[in-house]
Amino acid sequence: MTTDLVRDLIERATGRIVEHAEELTALDRAIGDGDHGINMQRGFEALRDEVDRLAALDLAAALQQAGMILVKTVGGASGPLYGSLLMGMGKAAKEGAGPAAQLAEGVAMVARRGKADRGCKTMLDVLIPVQECLSEAADAPLPELLRRLRETADAALEATRDMVATRGRASFLGERSRGHLDPGAASSRLLVHAVCDVLEKRS
Ligand SMILES: [Mg+2]
Repeated sequence: MTTDLVRDLIERATGRIVEHAEELTALDRAIGDGDHGINMQRGFEALRDEVDRLAALDLAAALQQAGMILVKTVGGASGPLYGSLLMGMGKAAKEGAGPAAQLAEGVAMVARRGKADRGCKTMLDVLIPVQECLSEAADAPLPELLRRLRETADAALEATRDMVATRGRASFLGERSRGHLDPGAASSRLLVHAVCDVLEKRS
């Protein structure tokens, strides 16, 4: 079951990222250096290339290995940050933590690595609200949980539009970063949707 879960997650996440790569790049062109879509696509295609090997591992090991692959292949700032997310989740999974605690550890690693917190106009502005939603609603019936996670991710991405970036390349723009969605928050939202899609299909 776990092996199928890893395979399904990699396929769906890669599909979502590839489908929206141009959109991510356009967002990054507005307030960054315009490479977020292509970087994420390269990283997730590298994961998909290794799907057989990763799917043979348990969830904890698969998350840790996938994190290392993203660090090596995504590049830029996003590679180490998404790598930290998956490696932190894998570490918590190895220690026996459930999904909410896994995500909490992954998000905490991203925050430490990026020296960022909520409100800096980064991927954390999606990941933190989603993590809090998962902790609060973990016991809700699955359809309700998935609806709340998707709605939280959507609203959290939209909320980055009015923020002024204080971390990452967009922070060089200062006030001019306002009025644009954050590309990292947008890719995080896509990944939240990908996970929800897989859990819905498997339920
Ligand atoms: Mg960039």
